[in-house]
Amino acid sequence: MRNLYTFLQFIVIFSWAQNLFAQPNMDNAVISTIKIKDHIHMLQWPGAGNMLLLSGKDGNILIDDQFALLTEKINKAIQDVSKGQVKFLFNTHYHGDHSGGNENFGNMGATILAQENVRARLEGNKSPEKALPVMTFKEGMTVHLNTEDIFIFHVDSAHTDGDAVYYFPKSNLLHTGDCFMKDRFPYIDRNSGGSVKGWLIAVSRILFVIDDKTIIMPGHGDLANKKDYQNIREAVSNVFESVKKAYNAGKNLEEILALKLAQQYDATFGNGFIKSNALVKTMFEELDKSKMH
Ligand SMILES: [Zn+2]
Repeated sequence: MRNLYTFLQFIVIFSWAQNLFAQPNMDNAVISTIKIKDHIHMLQWPGAGNMLLLSGKDGNILIDDQFALLTEKINKAIQDVSKGQVKFLFNTHYHGDHSGGNENFGNMGATILAQENVRARLEGNKSPEKALPVMTFKEGMTVHLNTEDIFIFHVDSAHTDGDAVYYFPKSNLLHTGDCFMKDRFPYIDRNSGGSVKGWLIAVSRILFVIDDKTIIMPGHGDLANKKDYQNIREAVSNVFESVKKAYNAGKNLEEILALKLAQQYDATFGNGFIKSNALVKTMFEELDKSKMH
């Protein structure tokens, strides 16, 4: 019975992960290197999360690490920029397309740092010990490496419950993790503690910290600016208000979906992983759940 349960659990997790991170051909994946400053690069493969490489006298520092199968290619891209092992690896959150390489980099000697819920969730997933962050924080911390003061702060209950954003004031650069995907509706992972309400608050907090010149590295998509981020927040906020209104008027999910409340944003933000119906459904479920409490 126990075996059957484990097996079923595996199937559920496996198909969930497949849907979420279905990658047709990682063999042919190419990691692109985009220079932002002499010492800061974006490493990118569009099938998984954007990585930030900070190099210099303190060694290589990496934010996020995509999938384990790509570690070799990622490390090659790193070595082409700056020779030497990854000394510190920071995670923006626990999803596999951002932290899947943790074990490999951990085995190569990287010290992993993340918000404490990232460690808890990776432990819950039975991740190997070497994949776990050895340094965790609750609200935030500042690290001083390679001439940068990196302000790391936790935004509660947004994309997941373990999101951290990384701000480099000197270079006016921000890595948002998946609290922002350029030109796409956000993915609110309610099963991992995310919430629409929390995401809206998180984005307000983040927007307060940055200015019009800030270079934003989103979790997915190309480099962006404050205006891009504001536009998405405004869209999500508008849709959420409409959904709330319909929900409070007593409409059920089917009726609300039929109203197509996010349709006006379909062309701009609805072409990614989250379509407008999925966003509205997430909003409905959040409203419905909070009412039951
Ligand atoms: Zn994610």
